[in-house]
Amino acid sequence: MTKKEEAKIILSEITKMFPDATIELNFQQKHELLIAIMLSAQTTDKAVNKITEKLFSDFRTLEDYSHASLPLLESYIKTIGLYRNKAKNLKKLATIIIDKYDGDVPDTQKNLEDLPGVGRKTANVFLAEYHKIPRIAVDTHVSRVSIRLGLAKKGDSPLQVEKKLMKIYDKSQWISLHHKFIFFGRYFCKARNPKCKECPLLNICKMPVI
Ligand code: SF4
Repeated sequence: MTKKEEAKIILSEITKMFPDATIELNFQQKHELLIAIMLSAQTTDKAVNKITEKLFSDFRTLEDYSHASLPLLESYIKTIGLYRNKAKNLKKLATIIIDKYDGDVPDTQKNLEDLPGVGRKTANVFLAEYHKIPRIAVDTHVSRVSIRLGLAKKGDSPLQVEKKLMKIYDKSQWISLHHKFIFFGRYFCKARNPKCKECPLLNICKMPVI
């Protein structure tokens, strides 16, 4: 079987398992999406949703974040990892968006990545979710699944994994592939105890755990 054929089967099987995979972060406003993605680094979406419920209800505008004291911001997000850094970035990011972009979250990869706490993955998720611009955001799940299934190599950086996936799959598949791979990694092909015995991709997988 060629790599292309394998890649097609992989996406088709994962789609059958998680046809409705989508972003699990809660948000209403444009800046809230960026903030939620930024807060989700090194922590779970579930943990982020827990804190953003109150955060987004008490902080309605970017000015609210910009004017808030750091201890106050920290008190809202202290249950997630790296909260001190994230609070600092949150305040700076809000101030920059107000001063430099007239209060509107920028729409280009470069301007997004220039914001504090926003890296390539966060920018990719934001552009894909909010603007529906084809992007593959590579997080720990996408990376692990891609490597186990031979779509990327062990030791590949997130950027290398992203480039390999973009080469194999059509642009029109990128956004939904990202969600499906995340669900597959989060709920089935977990870092520890993947469900290999029940896996429809066992014959293709390069690193089954059985
Ligand atoms: S066989 Fe196991 S490690 Fe391989 S893709 Fe399936 S669940 Fe993941």
